[in-house]
Amino acid sequence: MRLADKVAVVTGGDSGIGKAIALAMAREGARVMIDYFGDVAPASALVEQIENFGGNAAAFAADVSKPDEVEALLAQTVKHFGGVDILVNNAGIEHRTPFLETPFDLYRKVIEINLTGVWLCSQAAAQQMVKQKRGGRIVNISSVHEDLTMPTNASYCASKGGVRMLMRTIAVELAPHGITVNDVCPGAVDTPMDAALKKDKRKYDALLSEIPMRRMAKPEEIAALCTFLASEDAAYITASSYVIDGGMMQKSGSL
Ligand code: NAD
Repeated sequence: MRLADKVAVVTGGDSGIGKAIALAMAREGARVMIDYFGDVAPASALVEQIENFGGNAAAFAADVSKPDEVEALLAQTVKHFGGVDILVNNAGIEHRTPFLETPFDLYRKVIEINLTGVWLCSQAAAQQMVKQKRGGRIVNISSVHEDLTMPTNASYCASKGGVRMLMRTIAVELAPHGITVNDVCPGAVDTPMDAALKKDKRKYDALLSEIPMRRMAKPEEIAALCTFLASEDAAYITASSYVIDGGMMQKSGSL
């Protein structure tokens, strides 16, 4: 068990990639705090699923863009599990709207959740990790769009690009404390976020044609990389982005 005795917080941990990460980390022995936003039912079901295989998990409602709610999430994790060793900044949203038509409030919401949320959770978790004096791991679920442009998704691309520079900068600041910070950058993953796209055959076929492996990633494949980055085996890996995209970023055209 690669994460035995570790405590992990997974934001947006009740759905898609976050759910797969919570399950994978619990299977590796971590005690997992599942942050959720909205309906409690999926998070409760996940806690039960983890407990059914002998794992240990709890759920807590917190909006990652609200400083007081993030503070409460970390305080509850420390109270319930005695500390925090791993933070996975997974919560995220997107709104596909042409730049010229995007209302300011929509842009601001994406930035507040995808970028400010990573800032708030990372700062609160790192402060606790430094206090504990036993290092730590911060893994951000960024995207290929921290680097790759995507028309109609400017707010999302800006947020993930911001996550990349935030990750690299705080990784340098936190390295002396034994805390690593890295980005995981998926291409297209089969989750609720891409459900609408999957239903549109023309867009779905166009997407698959851009992926040399001709399929979306399974959330479990993203979770496997996160579990590795959170483990002791990854102790010397920091300030880096890891693309996991079936070759999509190579832009090599049709095969
Ligand atoms: P998802 O919609 O299944 O999960 C998103 C999660 O974030 C949900 O649990 C949701 O409740 C939570 N969330 C939304 N707003 C929140 C808030 N204010 N506070 C706390 N939680 C909040 O989608 P997903 O595909 O699993 O996305 C997870 C992450 O992966 C996101 O950061 C996304 O940008 C990234 N990502 C997804 C894909 C993809 O193709 N699906 C590709 C690259 C990166």
